Amino acid sequence: PVSGKHGPLVGAVDQGTSSTRFLVFAAGTGEVLTYHQEEVAQLYPQEGWVEQDPMALLKSVLTCIEKTVENLRTLEIDPADIKAVGITNQRETTVVWDKRTGKPLANAVVWLDARTASTVEEVLKETPGQSQDYLRDLCGLPITTYFSALKLRWLLDNVKEVKQACDEGNLLFGTVDTWLLWNLTGALDGGLHVTDVTNASRTMLMNIRDLKWDPNLCKFFRIPMSVLPEIRSSSEVYGYITQGPLLGVPISGVLGDQQAALVGQMCLQSGQAKNTYGTGCFLLYNTGTQIVLSEHGLLTTVGYKLGKGAPTIYALEGSVAIAGAAVRWLRDNLNLIKNSADIEPLAKTVKDSGGVYFVPAFSGLFAPYWRTDARGTICGLTQGSTGAHLARAALEAVCFQTREILDSMQKDSGIVLNKLQVDGGMTGNNTLLQLQADIAGVPVARPSMTETTALGAAMAAGAAEGIAIWDLTKLTPLTTDDFTPSILPEELPTKTQTPTHRHPVTYNPIPHPNT
Ligand code: ADP
Repeated sequence: PVSGKHGPLVGAVDQGTSSTRFLVFAAGTGEVLTYHQEEVAQLYPQEGWVEQDPMALLKSVLTCIEKTVENLRTLEIDPADIKAVGITNQRETTVVWDKRTGKPLANAVVWLDARTASTVEEVLKETPGQSQDYLRDLCGLPITTYFSALKLRWLLDNVKEVKQACDEGNLLFGTVDTWLLWNLTGALDGGLHVTDVTNASRTMLMNIRDLKWDPNLCKFFRIPMSVLPEIRSSSEVYGYITQGPLLGVPISGVLGDQQAALVGQMCLQSGQAKNTYGTGCFLLYNTGTQIVLSEHGLLTTVGYKLGKGAPTIYALEGSVAIAGAAVRWLRDNLNLIKNSADIEPLAKTVKDSGGVYFVPAFSGLFAPYWRTDARGTICGLTQGSTGAHLARAALEAVCFQTREILDSMQKDSGIVLNKLQVDGGMTGNNTLLQLQADIAGVPVARPSMTETTALGAAMAAGAAEGIAIWDLTKLTPLTTDDFTPSILPEELPTKTQTPTHRHPVTYNPIPHPNT
């Protein structure tokens, strides 16, 4: 291999819900030189439960790194040119392990898992007026099944090994970034127990203002602070890889996957937004240093903090639980298609959904409704309805959900987006993007480089203090393919209704210890 052929390189681990990837970028140009991808299994042990094996997630990462390094050698590129590695990951997914053995004490409870519905009911009873919004002022989030605190509470209450390890002071908690970092930086031999501000902002335990674990939130969920990792910025040298072909390379960027896509799409100005269509669908809107608490069912989250001394940038987020997963359901449960991509030719055989509507609320509805008890439905069926109508209705469902998020975003921020930047596994589907432009009534722009999530993690890693091989002040905008609305204004769906909250809204319930 020839050293320095493409200048300094940055690697990015992208650990998602459906697959793991490791990609190598040329710093600065942002070009992907090579990558390797492995599918990861999802386990459904009970109705509404979604689990993954933390050891399998780790193994997929190590395999992807090894295979990618092999690819580099084949391309005659020196792996020693990789000067930094970033991590981006599925968010909220909860891992617990024993610090003496390094072994997981339960399967990872995946973000989509709805087993905590009863935990949610229980903790709501402890709030005045049973308000989902009781903690919103502290953490920016409603009390739902989605966030890690509920999942960790469930594990402590229901898995005796977890409770015991906790009582004996041997329990470590982490989101997937933390689990991977701990293992990559030495595990039992000095592994770092660290997370970044974006991942921490999804636990429901971090104070959204001071970016520290909040004693009141921890007390509310009865989580001992000793099990929590240290919170750091999204871009700094956390530690060094202690095994495999990248031994000694610093890990210097960590971002939750949706925040990484925000950075990778270069939405670094207040008012810019991106929508990622994967298993679920996530629209993040950069609000700069301002914390906007939503009144229309959106989440307030940390967008990024690119360096210890860098400002904290916040985002409003609209999270849709089921997007690509509905396509997967048509494939795996109804055998309507063989591959996910087959949905597009099938949907194109009909001019519209023939009045069929599909609400894929498999595990409740996320934004803007936050209804744990909602379930999916297909309606409008006639004698003439076919699989093609259903396929089209599934694509439309994703677009209608995005439309609702955009409407909420507009009500909260007063700003109408003039362009929707998109990415994610589903966006290879042109029919979907044209439907999105039509249903949202805004142009949709898809970058030709689709690996924006990994790119964001690589940018954070390459720009870290002490690494400085990626200059974020000199970014080249991504080239895009654009889809413009093509239907008449009167064909556009009417504005969606403001969701009615099940519980009355009460903000500011717990006095902050510092105020
Ligand atoms: P994640 O990051 O959540 O792991 P990806 O971004 O890799 O997900 O996207 C995978 C999802 O996209 C799957 O749910 C799959 O069904 C869906 N998908 C992939 N290709 C297409 C396509 N051409 N049309 C519609 N859906 C697709």
